[in-house]
This record gives sequence, C-alpha cells and structure tokens, in this order.
Amino acid sequence: MAICPECEFEIDIDEFDVDKGDTLECDNCGARLEVVNLSPVHLDVVTDDEDDDEDEDTDEDKDEDEDEEDED
Ligand SMILES: [Zn+2]
Repeated sequence: MAICPECEFEIDIDEFDVDKGDTLECDNCGARLEVVNLSPVHLDVVTDDEDDDEDEDTDEDKDEDEDEEDED
C-alpha cells in the first residue's frame, strides 16, 4: 500500500509489485507517480516539465566523461 502524494489516495501496491524508478498512475487523481523508495513504498509525483531521467542534482555536468560500459 502506498499513498498518492497528490491526493493522498491509498494505492494498492506493495514493495514486491514495483521497483524503484517504476512509474504508475494514481487510480484516483490520475497523477503520474514514480516509485522513489521501497519498504515502505514511497511515491513522488512525476512532472512532465523535463524529460531527463538522470541525476537532478548535477548542475555542473559539463566535464562528464561518457564511458560506455557494457554491464551484463
Ligand atoms: Zn492521486
């Protein structure tokens, strides 16, 4: 069970149903929600403003090396 941060509706999911980073829709208000924590499941509203799913906290990422490593 998780709570929609938008409308506080109880969403019927549990930590075994989802993974961190999963997105779902609130059945009540239709908000797009992202799983930001498991056990307990914590949801955050996803805004459509930006389309980057990388680290939000890196304002200065101009020097970043883009090493492409194959992780298996
Ligand atoms: Zn909601």
